[in-house]
Amino acid sequence: MRVIAIDGPAGAGKSTIARALAARLKLHYLDTGAMYRAVTCAAVQRQIPVDDRDLIAELAREVIVEVQDDGVFVDGEDVTAAIRTPEITAAVSAVAANSGVRAEMRAQQKAWAVERGGGVIEGRDIGSVVFPDAELKLYLTASPRTRAQRRVAEAGGDVDEIERAIAARDHYDSNRADSPLTTADGSVVVDTTGLSIDEVLAKIEALI
Ligand code: C5P
Repeated sequence: MRVIAIDGPAGAGKSTIARALAARLKLHYLDTGAMYRAVTCAAVQRQIPVDDRDLIAELAREVIVEVQDDGVFVDGEDVTAAIRTPEITAAVSAVAANSGVRAEMRAQQKAWAVERGGGVIEGRDIGSVVFPDAELKLYLTASPRTRAQRRVAEAGGDVDEIERAIAARDHYDSNRADSPLTTADGSVVVDTTGLSIDEVLAKIEALI
């Protein structure tokens, strides 16, 4: 199995870099954040409070989450756009802090990689917990302002407000008990502030 793990805070450029790297290395790509977002979306649709730990964990085990190249599906329903709304973005960290949800997602991520002989996998705990033996572990980061500006360039909005929302989510993700966002042992930190996509890719390819 060939696994490249890419972790880091929101807006660091993980998805852009992971997708490009997967194409260059002819590997599959998995966005694990989309899996947590999909479970959150299912919870909101079913009006299950995100802090109801048992019901949320049960939901994560019951729904069929598919993260594919052409979209994200929950029980066959296309939720590709729905998982990116501010409502889901604000609620996802609480769902992702649930250990029952994490256990289920981790198992699915491992099975995904085994089926495909590995892949470029991005998230928060990929190098630290899910694939600690990955061939390469990257921690992508950038200044909070840069990260907020990238989000605004993609989806619009007020940069100060988005910077605050990103900081709140990073704080929550970094301080939870189960597999918090952190730099994994042996991971290479790449600060993408002021770098173009090609410059980041060149830095990473020099490590492979
Ligand atoms: O990557 P993205 O911003 O879409 O991730 C959404 C949320 O999913 C993160 O803020 C985090 O709470 C959770 N997540 C996680 N572990 C991962 C990937 C994402 O806890 N491996």
